[in-house]
Amino acid sequence: MNVRSVSCLGWAVAILLALSNAASAADKVKAVASFSILGDMVAQVGGDRVEVVTLVGPNGDAHVFSPTPADAKALASAGIFFVNGLGFEGWIEWLKRSSGFEGELVIASKGVKPLTLNEERHHGDGGEHGETADPHAWQDLANGKIYVANIRDGLIAADPEGKSVYEANAAKYLDAIAEEERAVRAALNTLPAARRKIITSHDAFGYFGTAYGLEIVAPQGVTTDSEASARAVAKIIRQIRQAKIPAVFIENITDPRLLDQIARETGAKIGGALYSDALSKPDGPAPTYLDMFRHNVEAITQALSS
Ligand SMILES: [Zn+2]
Repeated sequence: MNVRSVSCLGWAVAILLALSNAASAADKVKAVASFSILGDMVAQVGGDRVEVVTLVGPNGDAHVFSPTPADAKALASAGIFFVNGLGFEGWIEWLKRSSGFEGELVIASKGVKPLTLNEERHHGDGGEHGETADPHAWQDLANGKIYVANIRDGLIAADPEGKSVYEANAAKYLDAIAEEERAVRAALNTLPAARRKIITSHDAFGYFGTAYGLEIVAPQGVTTDSEASARAVAKIIRQIRQAKIPAVFIENITDPRLLDQIARETGAKIGGALYSDALSKPDGPAPTYLDMFRHNVEAITQALSS
């Protein structure tokens, strides 16, 4: 074999490799997830068989998202679309219609017992009564396990050949979630009862508080689409002073100015940023669903332990 034929062979191999890579990319299940937390969960269960596009990316606010023509195009070519449900993504129907999406729609929160809002839990203007579901169900890891089961079943329906892969990935991920659940309880159980209260800008931690025994106070309601009322802010300032709440938390998706103002007026310290409705970028402190819990729990225990 001379030099020339070796180089021809090299080219042939390179071309074959390129073709097979292109084929495997084309063979992947095209999934779209509405927001970054769900996108990570889909990627964990889908593994190598699934290509995930996330519409509302890191640090993005899905409550007030406006889909673009590029989002509609991504959805049009997708085989499966994962959404949170519980009214979180008010823009889904419009996007589905305008994209002509004909694939499988998976509502990740299906089967979760929703928390509903009432005067007790809603700290906005008092204008909303107990009819609205709180969409932030992923903030309880027990619900996260329900999301994973729905994602697994949705992927199997869309791609039956991958059944054993999805089942294995989901089982491994469910184990990791269960382990994190134990870690979260162990860490938060060290907090004194009197300090088990956190303040965030919008009411995204209702499920977290219910699951892990913390009281959550927020000047904004469960969505971010309207500003906190002056009355709600004044009420929170009174609550912080009366209960001597040591720290307030900003969120990665909301403007920190309101909480800065509340901290200044009450002397409470800013206990760091909590990741509520979106992950951080890959190089940040909360690039995955489980990293988000680790980060949030560490910030809360550091700020509230006496
Ligand atoms: Zn939210």
